[in-house]
Amino acid sequence: MKKYLNRLEKELKGLIHLAADIASKNNMRAYLVGGFVRDLILGVKNLDLDIVIDGDGVKFAEEFAKALKARLICHRRFRTATCIIFESNLKVDIATVRKEFYPHPAHLPIVSSGTLKDDLGRRDFTINAMAISINKGDFGRLIDFYNGKSDLGHKGVRILHDLSFIDDPTRILRAIRFEKRYNFRIESRTLECLKKAVKLKMLDKVQPQRLRDELIPILKEGYPLKYLRRMQELAGCSFINWNLFVSSQTHRLLRSIEKQIIWFKEGCLAERQSDYWLIYLMGLLYSLDLKDVKLICRKFVFRKQEEKILLTYKRNSSKVVGKLNQGKIKPSTVFCLFKPLSYEEIIFIKASYNKRNIQKYIEDFLKIYNGIRIQICGEDLKKLGLAPGPSYQKILSRVLNAKLNGAVKTKGDELALIKKLGVVK
Ligand code: ATP
Repeated sequence: MKKYLNRLEKELKGLIHLAADIASKNNMRAYLVGGFVRDLILGVKNLDLDIVIDGDGVKFAEEFAKALKARLICHRRFRTATCIIFESNLKVDIATVRKEFYPHPAHLPIVSSGTLKDDLGRRDFTINAMAISINKGDFGRLIDFYNGKSDLGHKGVRILHDLSFIDDPTRILRAIRFEKRYNFRIESRTLECLKKAVKLKMLDKVQPQRLRDELIPILKEGYPLKYLRRMQELAGCSFINWNLFVSSQTHRLLRSIEKQIIWFKEGCLAERQSDYWLIYLMGLLYSLDLKDVKLICRKFVFRKQEEKILLTYKRNSSKVVGKLNQGKIKPSTVFCLFKPLSYEEIIFIKASYNKRNIQKYIEDFLKIYNGIRIQICGEDLKKLGLAPGPSYQKILSRVLNAKLNGAVKTKGDELALIKKLGVVK
């Protein structure tokens, strides 16, 4: 694997050599594992380094983070740590080699110390169960007990043993994710086992947060529609909600969302990052009523902000669209209707309402109105003799509305308007 490692960016190579030195100094053995090894062989960029340590993983992580002056998050109970290197946007997950045992299907395993072989044997698929030694003497040696490299070559997603999906049904969603991401096929025996686990309704037995943690990465994949179709085909969506189904209408909507996200990314005046995966989730849940969406938010324990976006869309979008449909409306009204909404909601409305006037209002808001600023500020109002207070906000937004409507252009116009409003003596 040396030639693969040599092809890595300088920064990653530096991290790997640093890890090798720290391990050797402490008489520990270190290995690259998991998705990093898979993507290294596939030639896919992966900035998440995954290292396992045969020794004290947390001690190793502390030294590693100290040497890099990086932030370290330790989970001593699990003997794992995550090292975040801000300047380079790299993340290194460090764990101590471990063994897992599933006392109850679909529940979390009991973890104990083990060997590298145990550690690779507890993994989801052969393609994720390879390691590369970074130790002196055998630096770059591939350790592949389960023929992961051959499965990568055959483009196959294969579990390590027949009870894999019963032990951990979240692997059903992971199998779909890897299959679709790399254009692989779930291998036939694995597919049989997956279907058996679905038939046994294993997904209903998993703690919902764990399902959420696999569903979100699916929605975060570039174009999640093909993943969701496969999910509907293999597992259905009843594990999310009994009434949920990916219909042809859902397909159309998700495709339209894809298009609108591309449009948005290409040239809108966004003031903050958007969670595009939430827009896909809105699309997936579109056919459900508010009550079901509320139940889903509660069941999967989405973050407050995410829940708010999912619910306000359900509550508000038809009201907003109703107002936009009341004949020709002024730019300031369009601005006031969209300003309180999240970008996620606005993009969703654009994807779900095909009418030309709605499209145009949203385009104007995102490309023009959202970037318009007035020139006066609180300081100017103070100079005009106005006592600071809540009235400032009102006055400034009246000036902004006038600017949006084209009634004022220069700073002089803005000051004249304030005087005209009769708020200053
Ligand atoms: P991605 O590129 O999406 O981050 P990844 O393979 O790195 O993919 P992670 O979820 O970060 O995925 O997991 C890291 C590694 O941990 C996996 O490669 C796999 O070996 C192992 N793993 C993760 N989840 C499971 C699971 N549910 N069961 C068994 N092994 C798992």
